This record gives sequence, C-alpha cells and structure tokens, in this order.
Amino acid sequence: MNQNQVIRANRARMKKEFDAQSRIGRHGKTGLARVALTPDYNRVRELVRRWMESAGLKTRVDAVGNLIGRKEGRVKGFPAVMAGSHLDSQNPGGRFDGPAGVLSALEAVRRIGETGAAHDHPLEVVAFVGEESTCGLVTFGSSVMAGQVGAAAMKAAVHSPTGKSVYEAVRLAGGNPSRVKSCRLPRDSLKAFIELHIEQGPVLEAAGVPVGVVDAIVGALRGDIHFEGQTAHSGGQPMPYRRDAAMAAADFMLEMEGAARRAPESQRMTLTFGVISARPGWVSIVPGGASISFDLRSKSDKASAAMLGRMRKALGRIQKKRGVRGRLKLSVKYAACPASRGIRRAIERAAGETGHPSMTLSSGGIHDACRIAALCPIGMVFVPSVKGLSHTPEEYTRFHDIAVGAEVLTSAMLRLAGRRVKA
Ligand SMILES: [Zn+2]
Repeated sequence: MNQNQVIRANRARMKKEFDAQSRIGRHGKTGLARVALTPDYNRVRELVRRWMESAGLKTRVDAVGNLIGRKEGRVKGFPAVMAGSHLDSQNPGGRFDGPAGVLSALEAVRRIGETGAAHDHPLEVVAFVGEESTCGLVTFGSSVMAGQVGAAAMKAAVHSPTGKSVYEAVRLAGGNPSRVKSCRLPRDSLKAFIELHIEQGPVLEAAGVPVGVVDAIVGALRGDIHFEGQTAHSGGQPMPYRRDAAMAAADFMLEMEGAARRAPESQRMTLTFGVISARPGWVSIVPGGASISFDLRSKSDKASAAMLGRMRKALGRIQKKRGVRGRLKLSVKYAACPASRGIRRAIERAAGETGHPSMTLSSGGIHDACRIAALCPIGMVFVPSVKGLSHTPEEYTRFHDIAVGAEVLTSAMLRLAGRRVKA
C-alpha cells in the first residue's frame, strides 16, 4: 500500500459518536457508571448497533448480550478478522476504557466499506458484554464466547447493581441465559482478533509515542493471606512478648514488595496488597488477626510461580520470627497471554504505513483479548492514557490519539484480512 492509499478515519464523525456514547450512564462531568446488564447498558448497545447497521454491517446480539456486526469478505466460508472491546465501565470509571476499542473498530470496518478496499476474509466488530468486574464476572461476554463460562458460573456470580445472579441479570436485561452455550464461537470462525484499548498506564505518554503494540497480556495470581497471633492489651503487653498479626502482615508485605521491585523489567511484574485489615481493629488492642489480599501479575507465568514460592517461604520465616500462624489461599489463576507474531507485525506495519510512530509494550491489565486467545491468534493496539490514569472518572485519552489508533487498526485489519497474510 502506498501513501495515497492510506485510509484515514473520519475524525469528526468518530468524535460525535464518542461524545454521544459518553452521555449514556454518565457519572459527574467526565466519568461513566455504566454497568453491563442494566437499562443504560442496553441503550448504548442499541445505539452502537444502529451505527453498525447504517454502516452496512449485519448485526446480531447473542443470548447473553454480546453485540457483533459483520461485513462479508470476497471469499465465502473464510474465518473472520474481528476487532472490538467492551462498552461497560467500572462504577464509576472513565469513558475511554472499552468504548475507544469498540468505536475505532466500527470506524475501521466502516472506512474499509466506504473506500471499497478489497478483503478476502470477513470483518467483524464486537462489543463484549460485561468486561468489568462490576458485572459480577470479569470478561464475562468474551469468556462465554470462548466456552469458558457456563450457566453454573453465571448462577454463582452476583451482578453488583441488582444483587441478583448474573444468570438472572442476563434474563432481566432481555437475554436468554439458558441458551448460553449457543454463544460459543466455533474454533474455526475467527482468523484473528485485535483489541484497541487505552493503555491504563504511563508508558506511551512518557515516551511521547501514540501507538503501542502489545507483546503480551500479563497473567494474574490472586488470593488472601490470613495471619493469626494473639490479641492483647496495647499498654500491658511489652514489645518482646507480642504476637502481633498486623505487624507480621506488614513485615510480609514489605519483604515481598521489595522482591517484586527487584524483578527484571522483562517480567513486567506487579504485586499489590489492595485489601488490608486487622482484628479486632481498635486503638488500644494489639491485633490478634490480620488479613491481606494479593494480586500478583507478570507476563511470565514461570516468574509468577517462582514469586508465589517466595511468598510461601517468607510466610514460613515470618511465622517463626513473630510467633504467628500464616495461611495463604490462592483463589484466581489467569495464565499470561502472548500476542501472536503475525498480528504484532501487522500492527507495526500498519503504524508505519499510516505514518504514526509505535513502540512495543506489555499490558498489565486483563482484557477480553485474553479470553478470545482460546479461539484464535490475538493482538492489541494501545493508545496513551494521560498521566496513566484509568478506572476513575479522571481517566483521559486525547481524542486525536484514539483517531490515530483507529487508522492503525484499519490498516492492520485490512492486512490481516488478506488471504496470504498469516495471523
Ligand atoms: Zn477495558
């Protein structure tokens, strides 16, 4: 493709659509509180569906609420090149996390249609339902499509706004939860999946580069650690006699934070203790119990497993040193998910063709792409997050950068939809 054939985004139209979706489920001036399987969520999905249809896409909403729009390719029966993301938010969150990816995928396929660019494989735009934890199940819609979540998990999970099960919430939102199996995509239905997303971190902004090519999405290990010591009088119990569970937790957290900080950059490791509590929780009582949560992420599953081993060892040491009992419970295990070489190359070339600088980086956030990886090769395009902020109404991405991302996505999709290009 030479410079004359570069497909540019219609930025004015994209901006209008972006602003229109931001008004549904708005929180304050800049935020969004749009949880999946609610009336606001259905409104935004129907709006996007209408835009898809005016762009000439054939649309369908599956039994749990995933929206898919399709443009046929030159060859019948070929698997599709799909792009998209989610339309739901944290409660409250920002207006870019998710919608940026859905709207740029829509613009990409629409511009390909408008310019009459030829493609062998069909193109699909997807809005996955319930990517955020507020829905009750993280990456709900994409997990259902990948056959990883069924009726039992939906019945066991709680949809936060209604307090009902996710199963019931799907029904109340107009879906048909008993047909969840029908949402599963056959393995041979997709050739490639690309998700454009805001970075949710500071790397691109710091580097002054508008386009990130994701090499891998981190895996995650999550769980809790409980410490049991001895509750005692804060004045009566001299320091050497104490079995303070909260201080054991503090000791553990500082030691492990140090280890995570020292991990090589190539592992992209993070360790977070987001929930900390001491019992009984009173100013004049030495805490006899303490509980902390942990969230350990890395793009190397081997490094995560080794770190978990270190955590267990440190726990053993601290138990002896402080006369407490410690128990670690692992509750969530997500494997890291590498982006395919073919798709990374397609995104890099697309950035080159469209004249936008790009760099490689990893995703510390978990995305729908991780679930779709069970069905086909995946890749991600990142656009910069101002100050690295996300999951807050302060989240911001310059509109110009979303449009740049959309142009890269357009070119990458078109490339991958060629029969000779490997995903
Ligand atoms: Zn997201």
